[in-house]
Amino acid sequence: MTKHLLSAGDLSREQAIEILDIAEGMSNVNDREIKKLPTLRGKTVVNLFFEDSTRTRISFEVAEKRLSADVINFSAKGSSVSKGESLKDTAQTLEAIGADAVVIRHSASGAANVLAHSNWIQGSIINAGDGTHEHPTQALLDAFTMRKRIHGAQSPGKALDGVKVAIVGDILHSRVARSNQLLLSTLGAEVHFVAPPTLLPQNASGFKAALHYNLDEMLATEKPDVVMMLRLQAERMNASYFPTEREYARIWGFNAGRLGALKDSAIVMHPGPMNRGLEIDAVTADSPRSTVLEQVTNGVSIRMAVLYSLLSGERSADV
Ligand code: ASP
Repeated sequence: MTKHLLSAGDLSREQAIEILDIAEGMSNVNDREIKKLPTLRGKTVVNLFFEDSTRTRISFEVAEKRLSADVINFSAKGSSVSKGESLKDTAQTLEAIGADAVVIRHSASGAANVLAHSNWIQGSIINAGDGTHEHPTQALLDAFTMRKRIHGAQSPGKALDGVKVAIVGDILHSRVARSNQLLLSTLGAEVHFVAPPTLLPQNASGFKAALHYNLDEMLATEKPDVVMMLRLQAERMNASYFPTEREYARIWGFNAGRLGALKDSAIVMHPGPMNRGLEIDAVTADSPRSTVLEQVTNGVSIRMAVLYSLLSGERSADV
């Protein structure tokens, strides 16, 4: 593994499968009564969150603690960042403290890359979401969730060859969609983006995904194995991208009717937080086909696997 995890595109197929395999071992640890490994004893991991987060922040913290790391949580609110301290000064402070790894979430696309390529800090940098750019651990936990549902809980060495994945909704603002198309195509899956033209990037030619503008037509013709609904990211919208929320829910929301149109084995995913009643209705969100909570559980195992891969060096995983 490389020193940092900045983009899902940095992982080769072998590296991605290896992380999924390690996560499988970690999920066995998470099922034990004592959910703890000594792997990162003596290592200091800083969670540096400049943007709000529930699942990702908690998940990283649990993962770090289960691997016995010393954990420092640093959120921009209530720190000197709110007094105007720059990313450079913050990073240099963390370096002086002796951070072995920094998990960073920032509203600016590229923030994690800036840290990794600066000489402000020597430790590993893990991108936990940078603006509309990438969220590689989300893509890994999504791939892990698909692999478990499709191939079974213990399926070491398996990829996602031929699996058809529809990613639906606010692609334009979604780092989840960007990271997923990279990782899923590396793992052999076939990715389809489905969105109104206003919520697709103007130049989508670089994406490893087929584009569709009609959800029902796409579901009927492609019969996807996985449907991933994206949150409408109102906080990143500076213009009007669709007429009304009601109309969006009708045309683009996943509901009981669309659930019934899927093939029996298909699953519905959502990275959270969900706008219930907008991009996904309660029947879908709470149905056995929905993997929303499994994704959260799998997120802990994936983050343990990533931390282990980046930080443990020659130490044994002891799983
Ligand atoms: N939690 C994911 C992210 O941070 C998805 C979302 O916020 O819609 O990108």
